Amino acid sequence: MPPAPQPHPLAGGTAGPRALRPMLDTVLDALSDGAARRCGPLPAGGPAAVAAATAELAPVIPEKGTGAGPALRDLVLALAEGAADPADPHCAAHLHCPPLAVAAAADLAASALNPSLDSWDQAPAATALEARTTAALAALVHPAARHPDALVTTGGTESNQLGVLLARELLPPGLRIVCGANAHHSVTRAAWLLGLAEPEVLPTPRGVLDPAAVRDRLTAEPAAPTLLFATAGTTDSGAIDPLPALADLAAAHGARLHIDAAYGGTLLLSPTHRHKVTGLDRADSVALDLHKLGWQPAAAGLLTVPVAADLAPLGHRAPYLNADDDTEAGLPDLLGRSLRTTRRPDILKIAVTLRALGEDGLADLVDRCCAAAGDLAELLAADPWFDLHGPPAISTVLFRPSGASDEEVAALRRRLLHAGSAVLGRATVPGPGGAPGTWLKATILNPHTQTADLRSLLKLVREAARDRDEDATA
Ligand SMILES: *Cc1c(COP(=O)(O)O)cnc(C)c1O
Repeated sequence: MPPAPQPHPLAGGTAGPRALRPMLDTVLDALSDGAARRCGPLPAGGPAAVAAATAELAPVIPEKGTGAGPALRDLVLALAEGAADPADPHCAAHLHCPPLAVAAAADLAASALNPSLDSWDQAPAATALEARTTAALAALVHPAARHPDALVTTGGTESNQLGVLLARELLPPGLRIVCGANAHHSVTRAAWLLGLAEPEVLPTPRGVLDPAAVRDRLTAEPAAPTLLFATAGTTDSGAIDPLPALADLAAAHGARLHIDAAYGGTLLLSPTHRHKVTGLDRADSVALDLHKLGWQPAAAGLLTVPVAADLAPLGHRAPYLNADDDTEAGLPDLLGRSLRTTRRPDILKIAVTLRALGEDGLADLVDRCCAAAGDLAELLAADPWFDLHGPPAISTVLFRPSGASDEEVAALRRRLLHAGSAVLGRATVPGPGGAPGTWLKATILNPHTQTADLRSLLKLVREAARDRDEDATA
């Protein structure tokens, strides 16, 4: 008897790629057609228009399937047409990077093979690749450490959680967290999740932690085991805390130091910009995101530590995944390398990117983004119609129309989103005078951004402001 036909091909094995190839053609055509139809950084019309377009693809679960081709075509087309696409230089709101083609291509292999990094017998080569790649990245962050290590995470949120968890486990009970008002919101959630007291938040009127205020807090009575939580590249403005001074204080007062370098950590790759994160290597744990200034599709987070033994509290046993006798017989014990169980090999796209671009290639991308942010700041500084918040610390530029109120700034941003013409972010930060205000935020992570793109972006902002004035007089 001939084998029964297989209706729905699998992605792996030697037959998988043959089945995938025509499907990929469909996906790639839909991606390109969707981008052409959108014809801009995001779809026009706001949430209602996008939801209506998506609702046309009913039913969600048909009784009889459409087959792979039409389903892929329709849904990928809808996703691409309705995307906020960071590959468009006018899509610059968030730390939402345009992924490199090489990383996206590598990620397909991760999906096709589906290794799961909770046990070696689900991921032999992925286990070995992850060990080598995380070792290299840990050494990049902690070059002088004898036994550095790094865990792969879903991003800064999980890395910060792990940093707080390690402090809770490695220090005596009663942990307090000291952070700045500039810290990422995930530290507050981490404290809540881990049953700790709310972080003690120091004001940051100049955008970064003030070492004198930190010293006062570290010496205040009653003394408690402390995690000092610092930031290298804030989400709002890219500001970098004074890391060497904070590392000195942590060392002098026996505090653990976690540095949230989700944004700024990859400045280490650039000989031109790495001086800005001097002191990163002195942290007890560091959060680093390669799905920001690292051009990876999400997720691509890391938690690095200079002392691999510090990760011991994460050790966990489940006899079906890491039985003691298996571990003794030499099977790697992976369960302590994450709080997750099933875990995607996000390391593959990272490893491929590192090898394909090398240090030079990555440094060039970092430098291009920082240079484009510098260009944007120059254009703004030369234009009296705008206020520039300050020179960019990394690649984030805050600005607003001169004299605009906070409400006008927020409404202007929404008008650009609704028109589908530009995706800018917003940040409420202390202004040059110290009082908090709402600013437009351009986060430049697209290394292909040209000065002409920045000029046209500013023109769009002016036009959107003028539209409001016309509405008001109509
Ligand atoms: C983006 C960001 C985070 C959160 O990272 P996710 O990858 O979104 O989980 C944390 N801290 C800082 C400073 C960030 O910029």
